[in-house]
Amino acid sequence: MDDQQERPLSLDWAAGLIVGEGCFGFTLQRKKHNVVRVTPVFSIGMKDQEAIDTLDRILKEHDLPVYRTGYGEMHTIQVSGLKRLKRYTDVLHPALVGQKKEACRIVGLFVGRRLARPYNSPYSDEEIELVKASRLNNAGKGSRGKLSPDLLRENPVFAEHQTAKTHCPQGHEYSPDNVAFSNTGARRCIICDRASKQRHYERRRESSETLRSTPSLNEG
Ligand SMILES: [Zn+2]
Repeated sequence: MDDQQERPLSLDWAAGLIVGEGCFGFTLQRKKHNVVRVTPVFSIGMKDQEAIDTLDRILKEHDLPVYRTGYGEMHTIQVSGLKRLKRYTDVLHPALVGQKKEACRIVGLFVGRRLARPYNSPYSDEEIELVKASRLNNAGKGSRGKLSPDLLRENPVFAEHQTAKTHCPQGHEYSPDNVAFSNTGARRCIICDRASKQRHYERRRESSETLRSTPSLNEG
């Protein structure tokens, strides 16, 4: 009972730290073709490394992915992306209280809506309102960037155009067997990826053969 190492780490302890220092919100970034993209984010930064280390351990024990950053004296956990934030909001919402509980709820709602829609579909009014509500609730704190959520309304045409594409630029069909997703969630053509790897491999082989067949300057 007294053995500290055997004691399960408490989600309530983690929630207490997050209520004090954590943040659930969104970042808005302008991408190519003036598209604005919303990324849900959880972050917490403290100078107290022991507190962040302990939080790190508790989050991992609840199968929450943890990404550590930090600058200067700050120790930071920052997690972003729809699926990761879905996990975070599902697990943490019941344990949180007050304004951070509301911030977590808003992000959770947005993430739920977005994951239920086809990839790259335009932001709905409801989603845009959630981003605005998050800004208001966070009252400036944790809302990075100066882009207005209303800019999201300018996206739809491009976003729909992207989803509507059925073939890669080389004309291969994006069939279920021929589509992969990059880290950013963009579709990739598997046939083209393989061809590009093959070309890369052949170039490397050719250049190493050239090296071998070229007499070294030091020889002879
Ligand atoms: Zn292709």
